[in-house]
Amino acid sequence: MNSTSLAADKRKLGAIGEGTAEGKRLHDRCPVKSLLAGADLHTDFPIFEQKIRGRRLVYLDSAATSQKPSSVLNAMDQYYKTANANVHRGLHALSARATEIYECARSRVALFINAARPEEIVWTRGATEALNLVAHGYGRAFLGAGDEIVISRMEHHSNIVPWQLLAEEKDCVIRAVELNSDGTLKREDLDRFLSSGKVKLVALTHVSNVLGTINPIAEIGRKVHAAGAVFVVDGCQSVPHLPVDVRALDVDFLAFSAHKMLGPTGLGVLYGKYDLLDRMLPFNGGGEMIEEVSLEGTTFKEPPLRFEAGTPPIAETAGMIAAMDYLTRLGMDHIRAHEQELTSYALERLKEVPNLKVFGPPDAERRTGAIAFEMTDIHAHDVAQILDMDGIAVLAGHHCAQPLHDWLGSPSTSRASFYVYNTKADVDALVKGLLKVRKCFGCDDRPEDGSPCCDSCGGASVCPDC
Ligand code: PMP
Repeated sequence: MNSTSLAADKRKLGAIGEGTAEGKRLHDRCPVKSLLAGADLHTDFPIFEQKIRGRRLVYLDSAATSQKPSSVLNAMDQYYKTANANVHRGLHALSARATEIYECARSRVALFINAARPEEIVWTRGATEALNLVAHGYGRAFLGAGDEIVISRMEHHSNIVPWQLLAEEKDCVIRAVELNSDGTLKREDLDRFLSSGKVKLVALTHVSNVLGTINPIAEIGRKVHAAGAVFVVDGCQSVPHLPVDVRALDVDFLAFSAHKMLGPTGLGVLYGKYDLLDRMLPFNGGGEMIEEVSLEGTTFKEPPLRFEAGTPPIAETAGMIAAMDYLTRLGMDHIRAHEQELTSYALERLKEVPNLKVFGPPDAERRTGAIAFEMTDIHAHDVAQILDMDGIAVLAGHHCAQPLHDWLGSPSTSRASFYVYNTKADVDALVKGLLKVRKCFGCDDRPEDGSPCCDSCGGASVCPDC
């Protein structure tokens, strides 16, 4: 495939660019517009049909994984019912059908993030594998003793550990950009590191999964490239929530996971500029990634197949097409606007909860709707557990960001995170739930002399009535 075949795919698949007439028509009747006006998308997502402990499900854990619309479930079901076969192998009809779906999905991802060509899209099992692939395939080939790798304190472990393993193996040095008090990157650290002339690779997240901070990737990328380094971006929390254009941002690699963007688990994407992918070593060895194998040695296919050893997740790519369709119909700019409004509303309403500390930038323009918070007098796990009793799902823990939590001064936080199906009613439920948590644990209204706050409390530390 080349850019001409990408254009053909675009026509064939009826891809919906914002600038096309079809794009405009869908844009005009965008469900997120009505969503912003108070409607919701719950009917598209079967999981919301159930009750949790008799309550409406308030799902505020999309930064961990998103829910899936029926169209994604149906696409995978249809794949297994009508096209199931292995890809790139058989000459029979089903294999051709499966291969077409698999490769169409690749083209659709290329369009979704505006890659120059489909061969810049490598399928992986997830963002974690995508980042490990760069560390192995690029890092092992091009980094050596004394070379420096820059990461930051806000990274997910998936964008720390692969670089540490590489640094250990190749005797490289890791430098970490620290944070300002509002949860943004200390840009002066980055400038200082880059000025050493030793930095070969910079790996940063586009959006923090804890602080919600949106990093200025295009601007940082210009500096990274001026210093002669390669720029790896973790797009796990940006691609599902913002319009992301890899050419406008000029990143060298971008990793993300299907399951956080309405798609299935077990499928991830590594975008890489073709000339870089082409120079990289294979990651896993096995079937499908080879050109010729003899007992003496092996030659490898060109990218992206060089990096796709073994039977890949195929049904998942069918689901991914449906997920991207759904997101494209909503419009990534509308999704961003919707989440920005919810985040603004949540940041304001959370001020009503006593002893609640919210982390990350205080304004919704500079962040997404992943909002970590701490009740200074109640453990994050207790907060999550009591919210769960009312059907409110938030995540508690270190969110695979322990260096960040060291900096926050707390081993664990609670995190509420929004997506397309969330509404202001969900924020209201969260605030009400948090006030209830306080009543259960701290009993804010308990008199200072320790006497019961209500008939049920009886002086117990946990109010049985709450
Ligand atoms: N990076 C970030 C910022 C994330 O939020 C996550 C998922 N929590 C990952 C990487 C890893 O993604 P996955 O587990 O899907 O590989």
